[in-house]
Amino acid sequence: MSKKRRCGYAAIVGRPNVGKSTLLNHLLGQKLSITSRKPQTTRHQVLGIKTRGSSQILFVDTPGMHGGAKKALNRYMNRAASAALPGVDVVVMVVDRNAWRDDDQRVLDACLASGAPVILAVNKVDLEENPNTLLPVLEDLAGRADFAALVPVSALRGKNLEALEDAIVEHLPEGDWLFAEDELTDRSTRFLVAEIIREKIMRQLGDELPYATAVEIDEYREERGITHISATILVERKGQKAILIGRQGSRLRQLGTEARRDIEKLIEARVMLRLWVKVRSGWADDERALRSLGYSDGR
Ligand code: GDP
Ligand code: MG
Repeated sequence: MSKKRRCGYAAIVGRPNVGKSTLLNHLLGQKLSITSRKPQTTRHQVLGIKTRGSSQILFVDTPGMHGGAKKALNRYMNRAASAALPGVDVVVMVVDRNAWRDDDQRVLDACLASGAPVILAVNKVDLEENPNTLLPVLEDLAGRADFAALVPVSALRGKNLEALEDAIVEHLPEGDWLFAEDELTDRSTRFLVAEIIREKIMRQLGDELPYATAVEIDEYREERGITHISATILVERKGQKAILIGRQGSRLRQLGTEARRDIEKLIEARVMLRLWVKVRSGWADDERALRSLGYSDGR
């Protein structure tokens, strides 16, 4: 007898730096394929799709998944954070095993207010050498709310993630899948290309350019088997532009090469990538600019 299919929405939330992005990447695995087809009825912007066994988990795009910034970006994030939660079938709240902060409490309050079951994923347990010290930590966390489940994990090492998936699946409603088995996200290719470029910048220059960059895709066209992409990297200050470009353009070239390789893998085509750097002072405080950059919450 075959099991009934399940399909539903899960949100991954948590204060910055607890490991949400790492967790999502590991849950989704390395495979990347883009969907062109949009199902008629998705209640949320779906960032990642995990199909396993008879179940399909639709991970909702929650703010904080792409890093954060101050000012307008933060306002957007906060608004979208509370907007993304109502209507999800289950919330996965990620915490760091060793520190419960005010921000965690705020996230928890928002989770509880959503009315959805809340699974607490206690992350970074790989850093806990002594199992005897972990147990009281877990007990303390378990007492903070009526959690649907509490699962210690290591997002980085991929530890205990199956147990977390099992807990998520338990709360999904029965119903047909909204996506095909091999689909992974409904974000546009352009969006993902911009994210790849942003990721390269953050990886290389995260300390020097915290939150100060955005990427705009100016051109995306295919010609004789080659995809031509032009992108502008927006920074807030002249000094940041100089850092990003590097000596005689060396840093930007390096960035471009790495980004191009990943984009070629993503779209399975040869890519010609041109990168530009522009100073747009105060962009992070300009909500309209944010919307044009794709940080829109649809309002
Ligand atoms: P986010 O801000 O919640 O999305 O957090 P990230 O996924 O960006 O992770 C923040 C930092 O914590 C990164 O340096 C990760 O490598 C690290 N990290 C995430 N998960 C784990 C984990 O399970 N163990 C350890 N040791 N580090 C982790
Ligand atoms: Mg993140």
